[in-house]
Amino acid sequence: MALIITDECINCDVCEPQCPNGAISMGPEIYQIDPDRCTECVGHFDEPQCRVLCPVDCIPNDPRRPETREQLLAKLERLQAEDRAQPGEGVPPGAPLGSRVAAMPAGER
Ligand code: SF4
Ligand code: SF4
Repeated sequence: MALIITDECINCDVCEPQCPNGAISMGPEIYQIDPDRCTECVGHFDEPQCRVLCPVDCIPNDPRRPETREQLLAKLERLQAEDRAQPGEGVPPGAPLGSRVAAMPAGER
């Protein structure tokens, strides 16, 4: 399930650089999450990093976008393929998407 940033966002800039998928960007008034890039941090971290770091707790799950872990991993694999095709797009320095998933035990993918 993708996460969503509510209008309680105070534009503190903390979450955007921490997203491993480049899913967070500044919107017209507040930060926003691209649901096509948010994987709940599956394949990278045990918990959604934006939610962990947000000082005002304004990043709930988006109930309009229910997704299983398998679907989230499939999304991650799609992002990896896109990022390989366009190096540098959406991949922060030091966060090689492919290597992290490849290193995961098969049962956790
Ligand atoms: S949950 Fe993870 S992937 Fe989704 S927007 Fe937050 S930091 Fe990015
Ligand atoms: S961490 Fe929370 S308050 Fe700060 S920009 Fe992100 S969503 Fe907004």
